[in-house]
Amino acid sequence: MQLAVAADLVSAWLMPDKDKPLVDAEARCACGGVVVTVKGRVLSMMLCACEDCQKATGAGHSALAVFRAGDVTITGETRSFARPSNSGATLTRWFCPTCGTPLGGGSSRMDTITILPVGLLGGGAGWYRPNQLIFARSHHDWDLVEAALPRWQTYRDEEGIR
Ligand SMILES: [Zn+2]
Ligand SMILES: [Zn+2]
Repeated sequence: MQLAVAADLVSAWLMPDKDKPLVDAEARCACGGVVVTVKGRVLSMMLCACEDCQKATGAGHSALAVFRAGDVTITGETRSFARPSNSGATLTRWFCPTCGTPLGGGSSRMDTITILPVGLLGGGAGWYRPNQLIFARSHHDWDLVEAALPRWQTYRDEEGIR
């Protein structure tokens, strides 16, 4: 079983762009006030153990999927929280002001992408295969993550989103 999981992860990691999942999903926050629709090809799938994600999820890491910003529509009242990152970019997270459900985020340095928390999509995320753990420098031992998953101390080198 372990080997099968590892092989699956590695094949997702090496997945050429054309084989990345095409997603057509609609999701609502916990109270139903905000609707998120996504229609397009996933650019990247990752677990993130940065301290912001730990605060936002209350867990050891978040599970994220990256899309082109134009492929994601968020309707309904939202609030956001923005703060500067170590790299100097501004990171913004959106959430529902009523129920607090995290809705997504973005970076001022890459305003062409939108990052969605995969749990938001519920059963509509069966295609999800995370291919890396980023911000491993703040990852905690108690947060169990598949050992075969490639890990990066911060972002994956300088290659941009993969
Ligand atoms: Zn809500
Ligand atoms: Zn993070």
